[in-house]
Amino acid sequence: MEQFHETMSGATVTRMPVGPLLTNCYLVQSGTELMLVDPGMVWNRELEEVATVIESANARLRWIVCTHGHFDHVSGVDTAMNRFPDATLLMDPQEAELARDPMANYATQMGSTFAMHADPCPLIAGQELPLGLITYRIATIQGHTPASSVLIAGDHAFVGDTLFAGSVGRTPSQEGFEQLLAGIRVTLMTLPPATRIFPGHGEPTTIGAELGDNPWL
Ligand SMILES: [Zn+2]
Repeated sequence: MEQFHETMSGATVTRMPVGPLLTNCYLVQSGTELMLVDPGMVWNRELEEVATVIESANARLRWIVCTHGHFDHVSGVDTAMNRFPDATLLMDPQEAELARDPMANYATQMGSTFAMHADPCPLIAGQELPLGLITYRIATIQGHTPASSVLIAGDHAFVGDTLFAGSVGRTPSQEGFEQLLAGIRVTLMTLPPATRIFPGHGEPTTIGAELGDNPWL
């Protein structure tokens, strides 16, 4: 498992691509608190490696957040909650429903029977999520899934599969595609151009780079 580190204002971000689709699992540390975003670990080796990264940080894991309910973003969630029972799992209720259904979360298509068993606390638009020295604001973007969560702090955001470097998330319909583009424009493209964007797959980018180069926007 590769690890990529970035220092943001008030937080450090470790990006760990995991699983067959190289989903970006992020560990964020701010002060003495940690947040794990999108525990898409599949194999025991990865679960152990991510757990070791968490345990070797001199901080406590406060939050585990899933941006949306697709299999490749939630497949490690039950194992992570067993390993770190003091952490609070947060997920939009509509996305939790998706995660519990192996057809809807695409596990079946990946040859897996995974269905989430954990019982997350609701993560909803407008909520504020404190982590150490910083606070994330939660917003929701429809289209890739019914209620994908994005986490926005001062100089960076975790955006799940809504926006990628040079691309946008897949949608099941043309209507979903239009909802996704509208959500990206209203929620993300209005952020300062220097805002660092941490997507669900691939390299991080910035709002400014996507405004300039993303053919969909
Ligand atoms: Zn997805």
